[in-house]
Amino acid sequence: MQTNYQEILENIVIEMQPFAKEGKQADYIPALAKVDPDKLGICLTTVSGETYKIGDADEKFSIQSISKVFSLAIALSLEGKELWKRVGKEPSGSAFNSLVQLEYEHGIPRNPFINAGAIVVADVLLTHLKDPKSFFLQFVRSLCDNQSIDYSPEVAESELACGYLNASIAYLLKYHGNLQNEVKDVLEFYSLMCSMMMSCTDLSRAFLAFAESNKPFCHGGVELTPSRVKRINAIMQTCGFYDEAGEFSFLVGLPGKSGVGGGIVAIYPSKYAIATWSPRLNNKGNSIMGMKILEEFTTQTSESIF
Ligand code: GLU
Repeated sequence: MQTNYQEILENIVIEMQPFAKEGKQADYIPALAKVDPDKLGICLTTVSGETYKIGDADEKFSIQSISKVFSLAIALSLEGKELWKRVGKEPSGSAFNSLVQLEYEHGIPRNPFINAGAIVVADVLLTHLKDPKSFFLQFVRSLCDNQSIDYSPEVAESELACGYLNASIAYLLKYHGNLQNEVKDVLEFYSLMCSMMMSCTDLSRAFLAFAESNKPFCHGGVELTPSRVKRINAIMQTCGFYDEAGEFSFLVGLPGKSGVGGGIVAIYPSKYAIATWSPRLNNKGNSIMGMKILEEFTTQTSESIF
């Protein structure tokens, strides 16, 4: 029997209302503080093309760290396993913008989904691509088949103006010889990628390419073997939620990635990709409603990878 995703999602949103006012949106990037914290969107897209939407599913928001999955996909297609000499693939167990670990591990970030790792990945893209900004944009547009996707210069500038911690990380990477380009250029490109505006509908479509990990990945000039897509999904599973990756795995049981804009995307391999958006975050930087909805969703549907 076909699972009634629409009805299940609608009921879960009602059941989760007691948590709807918990937490607050990120404000360390001033532009994100202006977002209405009570927005709530969900979109699930199946590999056979059905779409289920709730609330603000079609409103664009700043994807922030979700962009790290896209940049990793490009970097892996460019460098293959050479990439792992400059960035690790282990959970960090520390905050997404932590400096401490990077210092005692001599400038090799734990994984590509913490800020240090994503800054190295941004450097890789700058080194290899003639026009990295438009390449990244075209790649994401082609993944979700939406030409209206764009960066938000306002969010990118807002982050750069207050991005002291990311600047410290980048200088430490440069000191250890793990950045080939100028710190200023790498940070500018990193913040621009994070500023990308997408809706839950766009994100769930874009992540179908990762959910269909048994097929060759060929989108917007980026080609990956199924084995490389498998590795990206594995890193989402183990490192996708900052120092709460274990908790997300425990509660939800799907590979996924969150961003401080309040978005979460998760995939059920060979079946669907689901994106949620609710800007109120917990103290680890993950969306409270997003995590609760996804936990309840995989429990009620019995669809998790475990
Ligand atoms: N641009 C944000 C930062 O570097 C991304 C953080 C996130 O979404 O985890 O702090």
